[in-house]
Amino acid sequence: MGPTPSSPSRPEQPAPAFARVPLFVALTYGAVSGLWILFSDGALLALVSDHAQYQTLQTYKGWFFVSVTALLLFLVLRAAERRLLAAYQRAVDSERRLELALSSAGGGYWDRDLTNPDEAIFSPRLTGLIGLAPGEKMTFERWKRSLHPDDAPRVAASAVSAVESNGRHIHDLRYRLRTGDGSYRWMHSRGNVICDGHGKPVRMIGIVFDVTAQVEAEARIERLIHYDAVTGLANCATFLRELDARLAAARASGEHIGLAQITIADFNDLIEQYSAKADRIVQAMGEHLRRLVGADGLAGRLSQDSFLFATPPCASAETAQAAVARIVAQLDRPVAIGRRRFGPFLSVGAALGPDDGDSAHVLVANAGRALAQHRPSGPDAVQWYAGGMDVEARTRSQRLRDLRGVVKRREMLCHFQPIIGLASGRTIGLEALARWNRPGEGLVPPDQFIALAEESGAIHEIGADILAQACRQARAWTCADGPAPFIAVNVSPHQLDDPRFPSVVERVLADTGLAAGRLELEVTENGLVNDVDAARERLAALRRLGVSVAMDDFGTGYSSLSNLSRLPFSRLKIDRDFVSGYGVDGRTTAIVNATLHLCNAIGLDVTAEGIETAEQAQLLGARGVQAAQGFYFSRPIAVDGVGDLIDRRWAVELPAAPARDAVRRRTA
Ligand code: C2E
Ligand code: MG
Ligand code: MG
Repeated sequence: MGPTPSSPSRPEQPAPAFARVPLFVALTYGAVSGLWILFSDGALLALVSDHAQYQTLQTYKGWFFVSVTALLLFLVLRAAERRLLAAYQRAVDSERRLELALSSAGGGYWDRDLTNPDEAIFSPRLTGLIGLAPGEKMTFERWKRSLHPDDAPRVAASAVSAVESNGRHIHDLRYRLRTGDGSYRWMHSRGNVICDGHGKPVRMIGIVFDVTAQVEAEARIERLIHYDAVTGLANCATFLRELDARLAAARASGEHIGLAQITIADFNDLIEQYSAKADRIVQAMGEHLRRLVGADGLAGRLSQDSFLFATPPCASAETAQAAVARIVAQLDRPVAIGRRRFGPFLSVGAALGPDDGDSAHVLVANAGRALAQHRPSGPDAVQWYAGGMDVEARTRSQRLRDLRGVVKRREMLCHFQPIIGLASGRTIGLEALARWNRPGEGLVPPDQFIALAEESGAIHEIGADILAQACRQARAWTCADGPAPFIAVNVSPHQLDDPRFPSVVERVLADTGLAAGRLELEVTENGLVNDVDAARERLAALRRLGVSVAMDDFGTGYSSLSNLSRLPFSRLKIDRDFVSGYGVDGRTTAIVNATLHLCNAIGLDVTAEGIETAEQAQLLGARGVQAAQGFYFSRPIAVDGVGDLIDRRWAVELPAAPARDAVRRRTA
């Protein structure tokens, strides 16, 4: 019994017409011969009486029978042969069409005899693909040897499953096949078994396609979905997924994972300074990070200029922290891009898993909170997450939201700190210091909201409001026996960046009626370095209005003496850090002395900030510092107490001895 397809849904094929030819020929021959034998002799006897003539006719009759039956047989067999040949031709054409269709789609067919491992048919394209030598017999074993060793067990298991299920499980899978030139190609094979009349699987037949291009395209798409296109590092979603798996394993084994979030703090500066393409910098950083993190760690790109990495699981929290520190230390070195070397300024926040968060989302968020607190120029290369930071982060975002409309709600107010003329002992000016009277929280100091206001853009509105309030108050101040004090107002670099700022100041002066000569604007040096030329122009415009400009916090930023002489300042304010080190630390003392010398030469007044002791006031006063401000004289106070401060006379005893000697005595 011939093999029958296993699938019950497949219709039975009708037997071809020529299948009945042998029976037809035999029956016809038997019937005609029988009739001939029965009737031809009788007819012959009726025709002739002569025995000799009968004998002769008998011979002719025999010849006639043979000729006629031969002719009939010839005609019948020729008709059958024609049909057979036509059927054969149709089968050959059909096979050719199948072969052509499959090979034009990069495929071929296979037919495997399950009862005889040596018997297998593979279409010429497939045998050609695996590099079968001409004349070499194709067997199933030979095919198996061409499978990729990693895929062979899968292929075998799928075939076994199809056979054992009697064709209910389709053999359908992808695998790699070694071609004649030794390279591997991805194939997709699909086939099924054919059972005999007793339901026993006897053959497996199927088709196979070369899907290498498709697999490669899928892999490319897969990479694009899961990995960053510029650096090839895991993207955020992939990083989080893999980190989650590692955290689960670390939790189970009691191990620790260090996670760090890194931002290139000066990314835009790097691009401008080196006219480098952003992608080149990111690529170089990504490559550097990948190498440092190694195959056991995890590296990913979070956004344009920030990255994530996780250490491999470590036995203790300390080793995980040390591993993070080691990677950051290496990462903090200049990276080469082409022939140039870049030294990026990195901000790094880190958290420890699972201690600081047992899910990837929480851990990354906590590392981000730590990052927000990191100062790249500070003493720590890495800011580690600490318990209260999420509370801080919540407070921060709440404040960020509440800063909107703060001016309209009249929550911003000024406190004032007197600036004392050291020679006269009079209050020559007052500095307006912003306070946010936040409902439910009380007075929030400026270091907790100015940066947020700068971030959100609210600083322009807040800065203008503080300026207006300060000018309005100052307009009302008078002094019983001398000139009314000036008002010093702090200006954010963001305000100074705005070309409209000088006209804002002009309008406030006009609205409040304060004389321009009584207004001093304090700008920090850090706010000037971005675009010194633009800053110079704006400061000059303010000076033209008659407003003074002081450089605030000298000593905390770049402390560039060249900025002092190039920009139109009228006053320099020496920062509290320099003041507290003056006469104590030799280097600080030397810098302050040199600065005072320069200010003296170019005619700049100097105010010493953060005076906390009489000694500091005396030392600096003796050195020629004109004004002083600090808790020694007064803390910043609300507007109600300002009148008393203005009328007060401060006792400052400046030593008669040269200050130089005094410094030497203290540093000795
Ligand atoms: P600043 O302009 O250098 O102001 C001086 C700061 O030093 C004030 O802090 C003041 O309270 C503090 N201070 C004064 N004397 C002493 C002292 O003897 N010892 C110590 N330890 N500190 C002293 P405050 O009010 O917290 O202001 C901090 C900073 O916030 C200001 O530094 C200024 O940069 C900024 N700021 C304040 N108000 C405004 C504002 O309206 N606009 C802008 N853009 N920034 C402001
Ligand atoms: Mg100031
Ligand atoms: Mg200052």
